[in-house]
Amino acid sequence: MVLLNPLRLDRPYPDERSAEVMRRTVEFFEAKGLAQVKEDDRAAVWYRDFLEFAREERLFATMCTRAGYGAPDGRWDTWRICEFAEILGFYGLPYWYTWQVSVLGLGPIWMSGNEAVKQETARLLEKGGIFAYGLSEKAHGADLYSTEMTMTPAGDGTWRANGRKYYIGNGNEAALVSTFAKMADTGEWCFFATDPTRPGYTCVQNVVHSQNFVAEYELADYVVRPEDILLRGDAAWDAALNTVNIGKFNLGWASIGICTHAFYEALHHAANRRLYGMAVTDFSHVKALFTDAYCRLAAMKLVALRTADYMRSASADDRRYLLYNPVVKMKVTTQGEDVINHMWDVIAAKGFEKDTYFEMAARDIRALPKLEGTVHVNIALIVKFMENYFFHPVALPPVPRRDDPADDEFLFNQGPARGLGKIRFHDFRPIFERFDLPNVRLFQEQTRALEQMLMLATPTKEQAADVDFLLALGEIFTLVVYAQLFLENAEIYGVEADLVDQVFDVLVRDFSRFAVILQGKPTTTAAQAEHCLQMIRRPVPDPERYGRVWQQVFALRDAYTMNP
Ligand SMILES: Cc1cc2nc3c(=O)[nH]c(=O)nc-3n(C[C@H](O)[C@H](O)[C@H](O)COP(=O)(O)OP(=O)(O)OC[C@H]3O[C@@H](n4cnc5c(N)ncnc54)[C@H](O)[C@@H]3O)c2cc1C
Repeated sequence: MVLLNPLRLDRPYPDERSAEVMRRTVEFFEAKGLAQVKEDDRAAVWYRDFLEFAREERLFATMCTRAGYGAPDGRWDTWRICEFAEILGFYGLPYWYTWQVSVLGLGPIWMSGNEAVKQETARLLEKGGIFAYGLSEKAHGADLYSTEMTMTPAGDGTWRANGRKYYIGNGNEAALVSTFAKMADTGEWCFFATDPTRPGYTCVQNVVHSQNFVAEYELADYVVRPEDILLRGDAAWDAALNTVNIGKFNLGWASIGICTHAFYEALHHAANRRLYGMAVTDFSHVKALFTDAYCRLAAMKLVALRTADYMRSASADDRRYLLYNPVVKMKVTTQGEDVINHMWDVIAAKGFEKDTYFEMAARDIRALPKLEGTVHVNIALIVKFMENYFFHPVALPPVPRRDDPADDEFLFNQGPARGLGKIRFHDFRPIFERFDLPNVRLFQEQTRALEQMLMLATPTKEQAADVDFLLALGEIFTLVVYAQLFLENAEIYGVEADLVDQVFDVLVRDFSRFAVILQGKPTTTAAQAEHCLQMIRRPVPDPERYGRVWQQVFALRDAYTMNP
């Protein structure tokens, strides 16, 4: 069974403590109950109860302390982070968010050489501290070059920081805020550890209305001492991007957790609702919507898990994760929207009711594609890898499932965020060959048609500069990478052929849809448009396979209901 069921936590961990973190987190939310989770959501209550529990249970200390800095159970272990993020999303995005922005705030700290701040951070985590990442500013969005937070030398070896940051989660209660700034004299970038209790730090407002505190904060002549400096110059710039590399992966897991809970709730409702003397799940279109939702969700999870393997195995010589990670960020999170859309079409009015988890899910699932780099920003990144991916594969060591208790040291030592065009990939074709299934074969035909287009009607320089065109092309390329990662994990986890082929039924339809979109772009040439039409395929229908997968889905109708 691919999906998380909090009532049956059976994911293998090499140590008891990791399993305990998952179990205790589930126990907290089940004891809190759905009614209270929803009431707190409606009233936008700051999640002090959860943070108090996390402190008592040392949840963030275990999950977010780098090995060697705190208690022996602390390590940065992406294998267990996946499930922790999934569980938090499963019970409510706000709980995930306060942990997630702590992850981001910790990025520049653990990446720095400032041992004193790192030791202090381990102590703060042990005491239940949360953290914040002060990167964004009100006027600049993705354009970090325009950062206005300024550090001016005071002449005595210290600096005065002045400026405002906007959209900064945990800015109200963070133990430390990693603030990104520019040196007034040299123009160098800098990250420094900001202590919100020191003079000059003002939490101005919460810019959202939710359980989260997404702060605007101001630094006014805030004294930055040399011992507060985390990183300077290119290292600070790289840390800004490399921290987002670590963090944005978790957005996929929030989507997976949200969709999984919403799936149980929606299926249970539909299977037990009777119209015209039959169950809603007896309608053929309802079966189709739930089957698609389940396939998309299973693929989301297997792709994200596979990407974790590449992140954990990354090195200066193997940076394939820099493609797979934005694929998780952009594709898993938008697939999450599709999953919720499919199910909302079925449960209709129920999805608005204040007492449901679904009502919260339908709102929150929209956030994940937009945060930490929009879908556009991530596709623009992804297309940089396209040429090497298709046309210059190299032999690289196969990456196994990484469920070992390692501290993911390389993630904090990723090096320069440049040179993306030089990253090479293994040949994606053999994994497709190893699955002799009708819809996988169709997908291969579609992929070959895409490669033909790239070779015979290569996008021009003007098209490469046209983001609208590039995004449409990037959607199709992303789908190929997504399918590759799914198959690699389907093989590792021994996913049955029925489900694999049914997932490809969905992917073949998506491929055709994206091909039509690219074909319709105003700057697509006539030759390219012709190639796009060659990418369109009708999935191979197989009523028996479909029936078996539907039975798998339907069997989950009473699998989980949250404690009221
Ligand atoms: C609830 C919430 C919590 C947040 N928490 C934090 C936090 O804790 N710390 C923090 O630092 N930030 C945080 N943020 C900021 C968040 O990461 C940014 O808002 C997000 O990355 C999107 O930026 P923007 O909305 O300003 O879009 P803009 O950057 O203004 O983009 C506008 C449009 O241009 C497009 N665009 C921009 N650049 C490119 C490009 N290079 N290629 C293609 N298209 C592009 C975008 O896709 C978008 O459509 C938070 C935001 C919210 C809403």
